[in-house]
Amino acid sequence: MAKLYYKYGAMGSSKTANALMTRFNYMEKGATVWLIKPETDTRDDYNDENGNRVTVVKSRIGLSAVADVIKQSENICNALAVKKKTSVVDAIICDECQFLTEEQVEQLKYIAEYDNIPVLCFGLRSDFRTKLFPGSARLFELADSISEVKSVCKCGKKAIVNARFGSDGQVVTEGAQVEIGGNEKYESMCWKCWQELIENGKTRK
Ligand SMILES: [Zn+2]
Repeated sequence: MAKLYYKYGAMGSSKTANALMTRFNYMEKGATVWLIKPETDTRDDYNDENGNRVTVVKSRIGLSAVADVIKQSENICNALAVKKKTSVVDAIICDECQFLTEEQVEQLKYIAEYDNIPVLCFGLRSDFRTKLFPGSARLFELADSISEVKSVCKCGKKAIVNARFGSDGQVVTEGAQVEIGGNEKYESMCWKCWQELIENGKTRK
């Protein structure tokens, strides 16, 4: 039976590179992967020569691939049915899965169980306040297999917090859960280093 996999990590833990390498492994065996991504993070999207929006899954180490965007209101079971009209789908890989809705995670579980298609979700565990994203929470509840993509803090401990910083370099602990940004706004670190930044009001180096 196919499984729903959740592979989580902090920002910069090479989750996307892992997602793209997993896709490559499937492709090498002649399998067709449906690469999807929630619409929330569109930083790497671009318009092609015909003016059509192209969604890209892009890793910091340079790997990238074109993906299908999943809108927040979209039912992934329906999207899969449409996809299957023009393509075989042997496996589904979802990047930035923390931005899926709870319902969409349930739909992916349904697909794994009833369509017998393995679904591999890569994404963050928690936000800048260490709270679970709704999509992450539902994945912890429903995934058949859960594993961590590890990365380290500057101090050498495991990074588990996606610390958010303001333009003044001060750590931010209030605000909207979703605020898209890269290295200029976020830094993954261990909980203790994060606490020290909060308590001492220090700016990041
Ligand atoms: Zn640390």
